[in-house]
Amino acid sequence: MNGIVILGAGYAGLAAALELDRHGIPFTLVNREPYHTFKTLLHEVAGARHDPHTYALSLEDLFRNQTSRVLVAEVKGLRLSDKLVETHRGPVGYESLIIALGSRTSTFGLPGIADYTFRLDSLRSAMELHHHLERELELYEQSGDPVHLRVLIAGGGLTGVELMGEWADWLPKRLHEKGLSLKDLYLGLIHAHSEILPDVDHQLRAIAEQKLIERGVELILNERVAGAEPRAYVLASGRRIEAGTLVWTGGVEAPAFLKEAGLSVDARNRVDVDEFLAAKGFPDVYVIGDCARFTDAEGRVLPPTGQVAEQMGHHLGANLVRLANRHSPLPFQYRDHGMVASLGPRFGVAEIGRHHATGATALVLKDGSKLKYLMHLGGPVTVLKKYRQWLEI
Ligand SMILES: Cc1cc2nc3c(=O)[nH]c(=O)nc-3n(C[C@H](O)[C@H](O)[C@H](O)COP(=O)(O)OP(=O)(O)OC[C@H]3O[C@@H](n4cnc5c(N)ncnc54)[C@H](O)[C@@H]3O)c2cc1C
Repeated sequence: MNGIVILGAGYAGLAAALELDRHGIPFTLVNREPYHTFKTLLHEVAGARHDPHTYALSLEDLFRNQTSRVLVAEVKGLRLSDKLVETHRGPVGYESLIIALGSRTSTFGLPGIADYTFRLDSLRSAMELHHHLERELELYEQSGDPVHLRVLIAGGGLTGVELMGEWADWLPKRLHEKGLSLKDLYLGLIHAHSEILPDVDHQLRAIAEQKLIERGVELILNERVAGAEPRAYVLASGRRIEAGTLVWTGGVEAPAFLKEAGLSVDARNRVDVDEFLAAKGFPDVYVIGDCARFTDAEGRVLPPTGQVAEQMGHHLGANLVRLANRHSPLPFQYRDHGMVASLGPRFGVAEIGRHHATGATALVLKDGSKLKYLMHLGGPVTVLKKYRQWLEI
């Protein structure tokens, strides 16, 4: 039997693990990969900004104490009544469980989405997307068929918009490098509502939209995707749009086995948690990050973002330290530090409290938050190592 078992080494799980490690409290961290992924930067991988390996950080390098154990394994299910986690490497027992398994892209059961579209929710999927685009460019070179230069992203949230911003910058450059004309390049962003980027203020949305349009992106607004076919999206309006690259970023859901384990979940499998981030009805099971459905004092359900995940992880880690020292846990309170969306490597929009920033200033803010995060993960050595890689010094 292990003491504390943490499932998932993303923003939430890792923040909790680092807090415990700092106080010498033993835990087992279970993750399917031996590394932490900078998931909020995956669009940069798909747009070939830097070497994909620089977007991963080895878990073994992050912990100071011998009491911290990393188990690389796929979690398959939970047997809460037996206090067991089922993994592909066998069962793992626990006294306290922290579920921080994040989310994956949901297809909402729409026909063809799972078969014919790409997702952007892991390092592997980002690399696959990039390789696919390179292959499409080669096919265009060989056949001249314009479908290979047509790209459609469905979903105008943060993931879809940051990816489109990245490609609107990278694809013209890549075509130029290959000596190919831009005349057949088509970039389309499909969004079900009248404005993109629901997480930022209305004025910033308009600026982001304008920037994408200036770069030649067609914004297909107020249109719902009804399904996908090989090389085409079919819209609810009946319109069918062809493209060699179809990406789906329509929404996320937590793992289905959370519901199967008997936890109280919403339609996206997010587990209802109380003010201490414990699953309702299971005081020894905590749920944080994208897997958690936390309702704040004003009745708002917190969105699935890296910022929420990281704050939940810190808070829970600190509460477990408090409990180990026989202090009462504190209720979780989210502090919104703002949102920055990048639209390629040279432009972004940011909303920090009531302040707005656009262009390079917004990117400086994004870099500042990257720096703060790296500093927290591994201190100045990690900051230097990553920045050297990203700046290609
Ligand atoms: C392209 C993109 C851009 C984004 N930009 C932003 C942004 O600018 N700001 C922001 O706040 N948020 C952003 N987000 C959202 C943010 O990335 C997520 O909200 C955040 O990663 C959630 O953290 P988490 O710890 O809950 O889960 P994750 O970071 O997804 O971590 C989950 C971990 O669990 C592991 N895991 C999952 N299932 C299993 C299993 N069955 N067995 C073993 N291990 C498993 C995964 O490998 C992973 O390591 C972005 C997301 C994307 C995709």
